[in-house]
Amino acid sequence: MTTTPRSLDMIRRLVGFDTVSRNSNRALIAFVQDYLAELGVDSHLTFDDDAEKANLYATLGPGDRPGICLAGHSDVVPVDGQDWDSDPFALAERDGRLYGRGTADMKSFLAVALAFAPEILARSLQTPVHLAITYDEEVGCLGAPRLIEALDALPVRPALCIVGEPTGMQVVTGHKGKLMVTGRVTGHEGHSAHIDKGVNAVEIAAELIARLRAIARRYAAEGPFREGYDPPYSTVHTGVVRGGTALNIIPGECVFEFEIRDLPGDDPAAVLAEIRQYGEQELLPEMQAVSDRAGIAWEIGPRYPALDTGDDSEVVRLAKRLARANDTGQVSFGTEAGLFHEADIPTVVCGPGHIEQAHKPNEYISLDQVARCEDFMARLIEHVCEN
Ligand SMILES: [Zn+2]
Repeated sequence: MTTTPRSLDMIRRLVGFDTVSRNSNRALIAFVQDYLAELGVDSHLTFDDDAEKANLYATLGPGDRPGICLAGHSDVVPVDGQDWDSDPFALAERDGRLYGRGTADMKSFLAVALAFAPEILARSLQTPVHLAITYDEEVGCLGAPRLIEALDALPVRPALCIVGEPTGMQVVTGHKGKLMVTGRVTGHEGHSAHIDKGVNAVEIAAELIARLRAIARRYAAEGPFREGYDPPYSTVHTGVVRGGTALNIIPGECVFEFEIRDLPGDDPAAVLAEIRQYGEQELLPEMQAVSDRAGIAWEIGPRYPALDTGDDSEVVRLAKRLARANDTGQVSFGTEAGLFHEADIPTVVCGPGHIEQAHKPNEYISLDQVARCEDFMARLIEHVCEN
């Protein structure tokens, strides 16, 4: 028999905001800002270009000491076309589980942290606890860089960070990075009876994609390899191709999208340099011999870097203690932790729920996972009071 989590009401509130990434998250952020203001805590907001989305950063306790940052994203993936048994944006409790979009990924972690805020503030904190809530994680970690950049304007940056993505409360110290790239081939249209007078953009794109495939094969065969990662090497994959209008027309344009998922230590820029050079040296001269308007353009981004926090790092020792975990691991999905890590803030990923339940219809978190996160938070409070 599981007990009702103390954080239940806050989870219900956060899930109730439809923060699918294409929507504004401002209502959720305003709710959190008001909630913290009533506790006497100021929030620092940073925005996207249209101010439709906001990040929130707030400090509980002394603002002039580095402290511990609890971080997570406010946005969720869409529910379009998914068959849900209940309203995804109204929390439903059934059989020891809480159902709703974002319960696992990752509003429950944020809700537990917020629900414990009054208790944190009631104690005499030696070490501050910072809350960092971001936008647009699910569409390429677009919000977190602005929040991290704004930390430089504050008196101190956090000493370490825990990103509460669903790991089943395991302490995760590593994941691959990801770089997304769009390739745009401009050819020269014409009648397909006269291919000698045109530049076939689809075929040029195919040659570039085949070269990316060769790079992917090389990674799989030659590495570098790293244990704990699945697969244990960097990967390259093309996921979208668009080009051509009719079989009897030489296609004038072709666009393709690919991604590089790089192991810690691998440089995705090297793949980019290789494919660029191949295009420029092997393909472009032939294209431009037919038309000087033919070309290959590359659009870089979004990206997040790999996470690779050493087991001897203070944040790992602390998170293991708070989560009562004996060991650490790696995950195959990416998180904002890589961005904090890149900004020299030692970071781990540790949060309630399981990634297997995320992004799916009937997403849920078990009450047991919420309880484990609450225990984690209670131990964190003891830690920040004694240190
Ligand atoms: Zn997530």
